[in-house]
Amino acid sequence: MPGQGLLQRLQNGSNVMVAEGYLFEFERRGYLKAGAFVPEVVIDHPELVTQLHEEFVHAGSDVVLAFTYYGHREKLRVIGKEDLLEVMNRKALALARDVAWATGTLFAGNICNTTIYRQGEEESNKKVAAIFKEQVEWATEAGVDFIVGETFGELGEAMMALEAIKMYGNGVPAVITLVPAGRGATYDGVPFGQACRKLEEAGAAVVGLNCGRGPGTIVPLMKEIRQACHGPIACLPVTYRTTESHPTMQSLIDPITGERSFPYDLPGQTCSRTEIEKFSTACRELGVTYVGLCCGNCSHYMRIVAEIFGRNPEASKFSPDMSQHYMFGDKKKFSDYTTKGMVEYTGAET
Ligand SMILES: [Zn+2]
Repeated sequence: MPGQGLLQRLQNGSNVMVAEGYLFEFERRGYLKAGAFVPEVVIDHPELVTQLHEEFVHAGSDVVLAFTYYGHREKLRVIGKEDLLEVMNRKALALARDVAWATGTLFAGNICNTTIYRQGEEESNKKVAAIFKEQVEWATEAGVDFIVGETFGELGEAMMALEAIKMYGNGVPAVITLVPAGRGATYDGVPFGQACRKLEEAGAAVVGLNCGRGPGTIVPLMKEIRQACHGPIACLPVTYRTTESHPTMQSLIDPITGERSFPYDLPGQTCSRTEIEKFSTACRELGVTYVGLCCGNCSHYMRIVAEIFGRNPEASKFSPDMSQHYMFGDKKKFSDYTTKGMVEYTGAET
């Protein structure tokens, strides 16, 4: 499918795999600070950003998303580095573009919730509009194939992002995803199915949900969105074990300490690979055609999503084959040692 744009791929009945989760991954690696969560690694260690882009493509991502998430004017104000705003955005876009062009994948720009949107407050929302405008213009100048607007809690802010992409995006498609918080509706009170339908009617090429919820609690909302929308829908959960009583990663409580897990102790509640497999199968069956993972994503998860959607990314060369394991593998190859090891480690012979 190389060479085809986002819309052609989706219109041809193909699916689009999308790796996100750069922010958490660089925080985990020690190149980004939890709290403000600004992608300073783009400036400090651009080679690592390139490497992660390449790794996600290797694992099956069809999209290289410029790492401009939370690289907007308000976030840079918070850390006192507004002077880096333009250089950070242009650098992130150039890094993503180079990998996308070298690998025949799609190059996407990225805008997100500003944290200063206030329904009905003109002064604040003027700043929001300006943030979207400048980031969309930089992305467009860099030659993006499409722009992702993501993690909007309010439909109102998502609509403003869509308007900015339509107005300043030189005609590139917009993918707009809302963040599903604890309730079944946006902060401004619109059920997610209806909210996505409104975004679709307003011209978004793909609509859906990302971040906030894990696989266990995002899929039921996707059913509602599938029913409400006519076009392609997107789903990119976080990779944590959210439940009905704790539906978002922000609400998870550590079962050992009883304290809130977000964000420091979230690694204690990461999804198993089997859970990612089940999630991917559910998306495929539901007709989610723009699919991926958000915070907590790593290449071993992304490869599973791609494989469930029938792909065979380069990383699949190293997908597990436990038949070759000396203890759990083919008993004909390892007979005596297999049985002995099984008993010693697991207490069972089979
Ligand atoms: Zn996320």
